[in-house]
Amino acid sequence: MRLYSTKNSKQFVSLKEAVLKGLPDDNGLFMPESIPQLDPDFIKNLSNYSFQEIAFEVSRTLLKGAIPENDLQYIIKNAITFPAPVVKLDESTHILELFHGPSLAFKDFGARFMAQLMSYFNQGEDKELVILVATSGDTGGAVAAGFHKTPGIKVVILYPSGKVSHLQEKQLTTLGYNIAALEVDGTFDDCQALVKKAFLDKELCSQIRLSSANSINIARLIPQSFYYFEAYKQLKNTNKEVVFCVPSGNFGNLTAGLLAKQMGLPIDKFIAATNINDVVPAYLSSGKYETRTSVRTISNAMDVGNPSNFARMVDLFNEEKGNPTLKSYTWNNMKKDIVGYGINDTYTEKGIKEVYDKYNYIIDPHGAVGYLALKEYQNLNKNTIGVILETAHPSKFIDDVERILDQKIDIPERLASLKDKKKEATMINTKYEEFKGWLQKNY
Ligand SMILES: *Cc1c(COP(=O)(O)O)cnc(C)c1O
Repeated sequence: MRLYSTKNSKQFVSLKEAVLKGLPDDNGLFMPESIPQLDPDFIKNLSNYSFQEIAFEVSRTLLKGAIPENDLQYIIKNAITFPAPVVKLDESTHILELFHGPSLAFKDFGARFMAQLMSYFNQGEDKELVILVATSGDTGGAVAAGFHKTPGIKVVILYPSGKVSHLQEKQLTTLGYNIAALEVDGTFDDCQALVKKAFLDKELCSQIRLSSANSINIARLIPQSFYYFEAYKQLKNTNKEVVFCVPSGNFGNLTAGLLAKQMGLPIDKFIAATNINDVVPAYLSSGKYETRTSVRTISNAMDVGNPSNFARMVDLFNEEKGNPTLKSYTWNNMKKDIVGYGINDTYTEKGIKEVYDKYNYIIDPHGAVGYLALKEYQNLNKNTIGVILETAHPSKFIDDVERILDQKIDIPERLASLKDKKKEATMINTKYEEFKGWLQKNY
């Protein structure tokens, strides 16, 4: 397997380079050179395979020998360690629960797979790889859990002191082993600035092998395509049109769905469900792509005004690869596969209530955006089978969900138990020299 940049299809890198580098030098995004077809018999007989077997077959086909099969099997076994169950609300409405991992959000899938790939590609290097992550709360939790105890890899998480929730802080500071937390006396922007400076510091980079766990790393995207197959397998009746509704911010999840479809999974439509940060739905209806500054909403993991994976979506629908220019046919092609809806907060709150009253199911604000977008689509497209990606557990947004439903909700044991664990973090200020000194002393 080789990969090119969404800004240049003439130069290729290996999977190893793409995973360890994260981003091409031209600031595009890595894309697989070709998207191979799965064996139609495999798709027809999905129900004969376990989730891990599906993940293996999909990645084996996509990676085309970039990793020997024995090693890939081992990677999958360590990466896919929690289920992705489909819950049926009614004949036309299903929920794909992606929150059964350690940080209660779908990002656990990407983080674990990326950790396994990085560890694999770092084998044979005499120096360990040190991953620097700045977090405003959520991403850090998934990355910390995903890389926990991964051989050959150390993780340093920088978070702004007093600006993440109590449980989020526990997710970052209680794992130990190869995960270290730096509590920065500053803002998230300060954390990010420190990390950026470290990557540009030639002296430091010659002493320590630094890498990032960037959210647009191709290693995070690949495993997100697995659960579309796993969900499809669990649907009882696929004679009708099957639509996947994807609550979206940076559009990684939706892009992974497009990969699954191009590999042969018979998905009829994708619904791009956003909150009022609806740059992509607006493009789908008008043909004009206009990024904006993001606005705060109750589905805040989707507060994105300039979605990073849009470049990958464009590349998938453009006839000329490696050229990010939007053509009128790009728009026409994209509209054949994707319908978009932007849902405001008032409506989202009503959706949370409706799902509870009608189905006795507690949905989180992101899932509720998906639910409402699916209902809008199904108003005009009756007799379709809808699958909503439930991207997080409702207890991650406990304040809003309890307020809206006017009742207490449970926090799963794997998160609740963290509150009694001891926090271990090193406090640092925002001066770069202090951060650098700490890294040099510890690695
Ligand atoms: C990250 C996130 C999203 C957005 O996913 P993208 O792949 O960036 O579109 C949606 N919901 C939750 C809960 C998230 O954490």
